[in-house]
Amino acid sequence: MPNTISHPTVDDVYAILQTVPDPEVPVISVLELGIIRAVEEGPTHEFTVTVTPTYSGCPAIEAININIIAALQEAGVKAKIKSTISPPWTTDDITEEGRAKLLAYGIAPPNGSASKASLTGNDKPRACPLCESTNTELLSQFGSTSCKALYRCIDCREPFDYFKCH
Ligand SMILES: [Zn+2]
Repeated sequence: MPNTISHPTVDDVYAILQTVPDPEVPVISVLELGIIRAVEEGPTHEFTVTVTPTYSGCPAIEAININIIAALQEAGVKAKIKSTISPPWTTDDITEEGRAKLLAYGIAPPNGSASKASLTGNDKPRACPLCESTNTELLSQFGSTSCKALYRCIDCREPFDYFKCH
């Protein structure tokens, strides 16, 4: 963890946010999840971090906000959270780094665009995260959390979570 910063900047705040994990998928940070909309410095050196909730009904957002404030306080940064729901978060906001980390962790990242997937109903993993086979089958619409579906690879026979587009 970083030591206390005497004159924190917006960049410092982003660097700290990069150390705050998504509670549901701890391999990616809240920055990589794409839920940080803005970081602004106020006149009294208090920062406002604008966060958008991920999925309605996902209880993780409370934990995320608490973790963000705790990490910033630990570094000596005064901050508060501002919540915004517009524009709404979609899986399209997960960064390239975030997607690569999901894949390395064995979770198939969202495949394609959230808006397109909901239009076509064609929301399924591109390939098995373990062996890259595209020969996969859906086991359950709900995996370890409601945000994910449980799939199985027909070739290597391993089950895996798919981070659904939404
Ligand atoms: Zn496989």
